[in-house]
Amino acid sequence: MRHLKKILLFFLVMSVFVFSAQSTQTSGNAAYSFYLRGDLTKSANEYLFKARLNPKNIKPFLNAAIVYKQLGKYKNSVKAFEQALLIEPDNSDVLCELGWLKFHLAKYPEAAKLFEKALKNKPNHIRALLGQGSVYSHLNKKVDSINYLKKYKTLRPKFSGIDYIIAWAYVNFKMYEKAEQYLIEALRKDPSFIEARLPLAGIYARGHKFNEAWNQYHRVLDYAPKHPIASKMIKVLEGKLTKQPEEIRPPFKIKGPPKLAPIDALKILDKSTRVRVGIGTKNTGRQGINKILKFKSFEGFKVIGKRSGKLYASAAPNEIWTAMYRNGKVVLRNPKNKIFGRFTGPILIKPYNPKKGYTIFERIRKSSNPWFRHSDRAYRGIMELYPIKGRGIGIVNIVDMEIYLLGVVPSEVLSWWPYETLKAQAIIARTQVLIRKARGGKHKKWGYHLCDSQHCQVYKGVIMERNSTNNAVVDTQGQILTYRGRPAQTFYHSTCGGHIQASKEVNGWGNIKYLKTHQDLPKEEQKPMDSPWKFHQWIMSNPPSYCNSPGLTASAHYRWVRIIKHKDLSHRINQRYRIGKLKKIFPLKRSGSGNVNALRIVGSKKTIKIDREHLIRNVMGFGSVKSTLFFMEINKFKDGRIRNYWIYGGGWGHGIGLCQSGAAGMAGKYKKTAREILEFYFPGTKLSKIKYIRKKKRKK
Ligand SMILES: [Zn+2]
Ligand SMILES: [Zn+2]
Repeated sequence: MRHLKKILLFFLVMSVFVFSAQSTQTSGNAAYSFYLRGDLTKSANEYLFKARLNPKNIKPFLNAAIVYKQLGKYKNSVKAFEQALLIEPDNSDVLCELGWLKFHLAKYPEAAKLFEKALKNKPNHIRALLGQGSVYSHLNKKVDSINYLKKYKTLRPKFSGIDYIIAWAYVNFKMYEKAEQYLIEALRKDPSFIEARLPLAGIYARGHKFNEAWNQYHRVLDYAPKHPIASKMIKVLEGKLTKQPEEIRPPFKIKGPPKLAPIDALKILDKSTRVRVGIGTKNTGRQGINKILKFKSFEGFKVIGKRSGKLYASAAPNEIWTAMYRNGKVVLRNPKNKIFGRFTGPILIKPYNPKKGYTIFERIRKSSNPWFRHSDRAYRGIMELYPIKGRGIGIVNIVDMEIYLLGVVPSEVLSWWPYETLKAQAIIARTQVLIRKARGGKHKKWGYHLCDSQHCQVYKGVIMERNSTNNAVVDTQGQILTYRGRPAQTFYHSTCGGHIQASKEVNGWGNIKYLKTHQDLPKEEQKPMDSPWKFHQWIMSNPPSYCNSPGLTASAHYRWVRIIKHKDLSHRINQRYRIGKLKKIFPLKRSGSGNVNALRIVGSKKTIKIDREHLIRNVMGFGSVKSTLFFMEINKFKDGRIRNYWIYGGGWGHGIGLCQSGAAGMAGKYKKTAREILEFYFPGTKLSKIKYIRKKKRKK
């Protein structure tokens, strides 16, 4: 009997031992997968469980602390960091992060002590410098605050976020002229930074610099066309301007043909397949509203009825003709205001020289379509104009694909980037055309294969053309990427932020074999991102990546920060979701890359989950934040009310497929070829050449 008991006890001990050994091995990964898929409380519990098993290991505490931080449970997060500090009391990273939590909880003196200690160990600890500068700004220690922030700026001079935060500090001190200076600097680094443009406009208006304020609000509308404050303020300021709008913001006018090397290849390129491109479209791809259009051609043009084939008018070189939308019809007038027809169906504008000629649309200051407000526009090929009932004039550019690409490549990448990058861009843009054309495109119901906005691929026509990009199109003529004999889904984006997402990780993108997740780095330099703490430190810092190539790519897109007031975010969310008062918002799910795949929003009326990439970006900023790759901090007043949200982000765009800045880094820094670039971002695809098959004769 005693013997049996001993055996039983032995088994019991063994099984406990085996059980705990297994937990230690797997719970780290399990905790991380809980984290990624949004079981945040479970994830934190797992990490704490792991911490108890390994009381000398600091990592599980750090991970638990970050999971709690993401959840907005700052007290639990503080506790976990304090536990970590018991293990490593002088760890600057931990001191600093605890400092940040205290800062956001409005416990400024405590935060200041923690940052001080972190900086004692590491005087150039960049996040501690930012923290100390921010704390002193709240304690109204002007000189100290600015000193710390400026030290940060000398260590990371290209980061637009630091200029923005210094400006915030100056606004806190009511030193508006200084704030103005730093906002201008932030905008120089990143013109799309509307969260910096709005306060700058406000400061100008405050200082009675009405022209400048008007200009800034106008530029906000370039990025967020319906921005309510900007739209309202433009009207308010219009009566106070001391200069003509044209003097404040000179429009772009086309004065003559582009000064480019002759594209001999135009003759060859002309033989490709034809595409229909919607012009002046919104970011959904839908036609903008055009009530009036003014157009001309340097060589003159013909106007032909699309269905009848009838010649309605001939315009001499440089004559400016007008098309107006009236009662469901397009009304065409010559320069002398003579009406040449009222059309219920499409008409075609054909330049006399079909190869070299193009149509120029003159800018119209009060155009209802922002596309035509600040710049003349010009397109090769044929322009089709048609009435869209109740809306205005629809515009479609009918153009040979290779010619279309001459306008796409320089709109999508910088024409001075390494040549191999331009070639890679030409190949994937061409592949996109075939994919969209084959299916009739997402815009079939609107009558075109592709729109000209970011929705499909940006196409700004002739004015963008450059020799380098023209050559890249010609040199890669007919080349596309294929997978198993079919055009590949060559998605691309501006800047991934250091880590590509797999298509299958993102809701609605499907499981495409060659759209995999990986770091945007040479294979031998890739390090696994396998914990919340690692991700947190990575997004807060300036890690190496192909798309982090200063001199080639804009640092402002690689890492960014936005501070959004609680009431503004609440307003933004309620514009769309009517959740009542915003109580809580936090990232729920993430991809392996760290991109947020679902957002939980708790309001006084309802709780919602947003899980579409563009919708997540849309609620997080004044326009739309650059990407879903971000970590959010909640900043509170002393009484516990939320003051604002600090969003630390990386990248610009959806992060799937090819990273354009990364492609520039690969070609520039690592001397990779277009083929190698494409193999890196679309592994398993092949470079193929298409043969164009054409109908024998074009219809007139
Ligand atoms: Zn589109
Ligand atoms: Zn990248």
